[in-house]
Formats: sequence, C-alpha cells, structure tokens
Amino acid sequence: MAKNELIFNGNEKQVFSTDDPTRVIFRYKDVTTAYHGVKRARFAGKGALTNQISALLLGYLNENGVETHYISTIDEREQLCRMIEIIPLEVVFHNRIAGSLATKLGVEDGMKPANTILDLCYNNDELGDPLINRDQAVALNLATYQELDLMYDIVRRSGKLLTDLLHKAGIELVDAKFEFGRAADTGAIIISDELSPDTCRMWDEATGERLDKDRFRLDLGDMVDSYGIVLEKLKNVMEAE
Ligand code: 5GP
Repeated sequence: MAKNELIFNGNEKQVFSTDDPTRVIFRYKDVTTAYHGVKRARFAGKGALTNQISALLLGYLNENGVETHYISTIDEREQLCRMIEIIPLEVVFHNRIAGSLATKLGVEDGMKPANTILDLCYNNDELGDPLINRDQAVALNLATYQELDLMYDIVRRSGKLLTDLLHKAGIELVDAKFEFGRAADTGAIIISDELSPDTCRMWDEATGERLDKDRFRLDLGDMVDSYGIVLEKLKNVMEAE
C-alpha cells in the first residue's frame, strides 16, 4: 500500500495516510521522551523494538477477541493500521501502584493492591494528561457513557490477557496505558495506540529489574537492551503457543 502524506508527527511516532482512507501507516522513531517532552533522547534501534513488541501485543489482542488498530507489520519500523477518529482519553490499567499514582497516593512505588485499578485521563499535553471522571468526559463531548463502558470493558479484558501472556514470558505487567479511537472502517471503538515498554511498565519477574521506559525516566541504564529482552522473551513464549 502506498505511503502518502505525513498526517501526524509525534514525539515517538509518525502516521502517514495511504491510498485507502481507512488505512494508515505507523512509523516508530528512535526518539524517546518523558515528562511530557521535557526529557528527550535518541536511542538507535528503539523504534524497531517498539514496533515489533507492539505488533506482537496488539496482534495477540486481535487474535483474542479485542479489536485494535494493528493490521500487519510492513518492515522493522512500520506497521499498517486502521484509520481512526481519535478519542482524547487514556485508560491506565494498574496491577501495581507505581509511578505518578504512587506519588499521588503517598505509597511505596510498586505497592501491590488486592484489586486492579483503572484510571481515566484526559489526553491533553498542555494540561499534563490530568485525571478526568466520566461525567466530565461526557460533558466535554469526548465520549458517551456507553463508549466509556466499552473502553473500560476493553481495558479489563486486555489487561488480563496481557498480564497472563507476559507472565508466561517471565515479565510482570505493572501497568499499561490504553488509547482508543472510532475505527474509520466499521465505527467500532478500538485500541488505537502502541502497547510496548514505552507505554506499559514491565518488570522482570525473576530479578525485579525494570525493563521499560522507567530506565530512561529514572536514569537506570540502557533501555534498548531491556526492550530487546522483552522482545526476545515474548517471541519465545508466543512461538511456543
Ligand atoms: P504514570 O502515570 O506513572 O506516568 O504512567 C502510568 C503508566 O501509563 C505507565 O506505564 C506509563 O508508561 C503509561 N503512560 C501514561 N501516560 C503516558 C504518556 O503520556 N506517554 C507514555 N509513553 N506512557 C504513558
């Protein structure tokens, strides 16, 4: 499929239109940012890793009854995806309380609650992606109550599927951020952004080592090596399935 115009140039990804209005091409960059773009660096090979990890995780959800925007992998850096109308909301799934949630609640980073926690955030960089509640989201016309119910259901199912899959690979899914859109081809609400160590916290179950973007956020050492470990572990477990 022909790659046409650049329609979105994000920090870590670019999106191109194609000759089919219901299809786009996602290109993963080597750039990494944190703290809403305040911290920024380039790591050779990072884009190829997030592209491949995301393809495996999104493909796995597709195969297990959760619709996502991912269609197929084009090459090391690019994937073919479904065009969507963006819903500017994020739902963050937490198996553990880590990062900004731990700071907000004043608990130890990594505390394990008995329940899973879902947070709804307004995807708005200028406001710093604040927490928003359902009534506020509906008041801003970001989504309907019915769509919010669907998004929560998708996140609960996806969170469980990914937690179990990563566990088989010896990786603990600590938390994960999901974004959504309305698919241009069917109108369905689908997951519409990457799932990778850039958007999910992933800890090595054996050592507790952080294998995700916290390596960059917290200056813990090489990030590309860790993303490579995640990819290898995932490939091994998925090939065996
Ligand atoms: P926190 O609120 O601690 O920053 O993030 C919670 C989880 O959601 C982490 O897995 C984090 O990677 C992901 N997350 C939340 N917001 C963003 C964002 O704007 N960009 C990225 N890459 N990940 C995010």
